Amino acid sequence: MEKALRLIDVNKSYKVTKQEKFQALYDINVEFDKGELVSIVGESGSGKSTLMNLIGGLDSDFTGTIIAGGEDLGKLSDKQLDKYRKDKVGFVFQSFNLISHLSILDNVTLALTLSNIPEKEKVERATEMLKRVGLETQLKKNPTQLSGGQKQRVAIARALINDPEIIIADEPTGALDSETSMQILEILKEIADSGKLVIMVTHSERVASISSRVVKISDGRIVGDELNKNYKKSKKLEVPKEEKKKSEKQNLSFFSAIRLSLHNMWASKVKNFLMAFGVAIGIGSLIMMLCFSSGINDFIDTTMLSYSNPEIVTITKKGSGGPMSLLQYNEFSDEDKTNLVNDINAYLTEKNNDFRVDDSNLSAGAQLMTMVPEGTWVFENKDDVWLTDTSSANALKAELESNHIKYSQLFYIYSIPPYYSDTNVFEGKMCTSEGGVMLTKGAKMLFDDGQIVGKKINLSLGATGIPFKYFEDGTPFTNDPTQTYDFEVTGVMDTSIMANYLVMYVDYNYFQKIYQDAYPSQPLNPNTLYIKTDSKETTDLINAYLAESGEYRGSIEDSLAGLFSSLSSTIGTSLTVISCISLLVSAMMILVVLYMSVSERTKEIGVMKSIGARRKDIKLIFTSESFLIGILSGIVGVIFNLIMTLIITLTLKNTIGLAPLSYRWWYFALAIGVSVFISMLSGLYPASKAAKLDPVESLRRE
Ligand code: ADP
Ligand code: MG
Repeated sequence: MEKALRLIDVNKSYKVTKQEKFQALYDINVEFDKGELVSIVGESGSGKSTLMNLIGGLDSDFTGTIIAGGEDLGKLSDKQLDKYRKDKVGFVFQSFNLISHLSILDNVTLALTLSNIPEKEKVERATEMLKRVGLETQLKKNPTQLSGGQKQRVAIARALINDPEIIIADEPTGALDSETSMQILEILKEIADSGKLVIMVTHSERVASISSRVVKISDGRIVGDELNKNYKKSKKLEVPKEEKKKSEKQNLSFFSAIRLSLHNMWASKVKNFLMAFGVAIGIGSLIMMLCFSSGINDFIDTTMLSYSNPEIVTITKKGSGGPMSLLQYNEFSDEDKTNLVNDINAYLTEKNNDFRVDDSNLSAGAQLMTMVPEGTWVFENKDDVWLTDTSSANALKAELESNHIKYSQLFYIYSIPPYYSDTNVFEGKMCTSEGGVMLTKGAKMLFDDGQIVGKKINLSLGATGIPFKYFEDGTPFTNDPTQTYDFEVTGVMDTSIMANYLVMYVDYNYFQKIYQDAYPSQPLNPNTLYIKTDSKETTDLINAYLAESGEYRGSIEDSLAGLFSSLSSTIGTSLTVISCISLLVSAMMILVVLYMSVSERTKEIGVMKSIGARRKDIKLIFTSESFLIGILSGIVGVIFNLIMTLIITLTLKNTIGLAPLSYRWWYFALAIGVSVFISMLSGLYPASKAAKLDPVESLRRE
């Protein structure tokens, strides 16, 4: 009969230091048959566990030959050794080594899970095995809820689940009282009697006396080997049942790995949740940054630029500098105009655009600033010298108020680009007549009924500036004006960031005329040029040229849009930096937590390896754990972000009346993706560390 196990000239030494070795086993020559119940006895430190680890395929660093279950262990690859442990041997340890976050059933099925056996079959086989050790009623319990003897029965069921030929039990009764020991021993005896080889290490004389053979080891050598003549096979000999067809063994599936990780994460849920929350702060601010950037862009598009005509280029000269230069305009001389037209045409030629600027599409206009809320900005001369005269503004305000006159401070007078049509008018229509005017919707506050179109207004051009005012009864208010001019409102323009303030859009020629009338010595010269292009592409090209030139700029909307974009990109950049830093911190945190978890779970990893988990499987379990942490953090991050957004939106709405935050659905997907990526990246090192742990050392760990 073929021997179940043969050891030939086996020597084993441990490396103690680089140079020093310690020989733990000397020339072991021994053979075992199926059906034997062998006790290995010997002093502590004599080499019993070392021998067990060699037989169990946990340690392949030896010389000599071990033939077990038909395999030559010394010749097996790591992969084949994993398979050997999974299929041919079952381990039972002194300290039970059950995985505490898994139920009894899951502990027993673990080896089957590693082979990706279908759920139903797993449960059936495990239940049968637990029945055999008398624990069929405890399936759902946790290891911590069992007594020592019960734990060891679970461990035996786990060792038996893959129907191995050899059972190795290293001091299986060492932690049990004598009565329980005898019960466990009885189970092991039954297993041996059913035709398996059971090798157990024991210190107990009584245990040894019941076994069929006792092998004595001393200082790494076999010093005794006796058969027990009185050994009787147990009466209720297990008759092997008609074997059910078992499923083909595969490898641990991703799904099972996720399930195992979920169990483990649940076992330390507080820690994991706190960690996820830490990551979530980074993820939340990442989404915040995206929402803010798109919010600003949306704001620019919808509020500032949506009504502007895509085929009109507005050109002004840059101001002379200082914080208010944005609001200053310089005049265009004829020479300036000619040069600019030539330059633009040269640029268009260079860019292979067929459009050319000429008199048919170029026209002049003016944009005049009048006042800002803090005081009256008095237009002194047309060379962009602006003076603040707060006292006269206040006097004017007081006078208007005491007369119960509604007034508004006019910000701008714009000449209407000659190519504008009704499509550029928000409400009402374009003004075509000389006395027509369009206002921004900010003018609504001047009128009790909130209606602007059709109302009469008048404009006083006078010594203290260009105050704009309206009388309920229609009579003009005079503030020492040189002249007062009547206008009828034909439409509402909403093209501008200025929409909430007051801007007048008037016909340039007509405005030139009344300006000449009011200020005879100072004609109104053009400070704005309009080009009607053939397409949005040409418009964009010309605007690109203007931006490149550095001397010119577009309309006030364009300038403000530019200002907003650069402001938002500054804020966006700082938010990006903040979220990058916090994501980096998160990554470190995940790394530390997973790394520590590897140390905490060293023993568990050893157990997994002893039942046949491959490096890959261990890696997969840890990787799926970081995957889950990533998903969890991402979701918490999204929730955190939504709460943050709610608070910020409410605060901003209540203070500045505007909350430029826009969501795109994919921000959430991106955030969860980033979170998973970071977690998995940080999990790489701990996972590979876990996979590389030496099973023997891990099991030795207390
Ligand atoms: P037993 O199980 O019989 O008590 P072991 O097989 O655990 O003994 O140990 C046998 C001898 O080998 C002991 O002297 C022990 O100190 C030594 N030994 C065990 N493991 C290592 C190791 N990893 N490195 C160095 N020496 C070891
Ligand atoms: Mg030992």
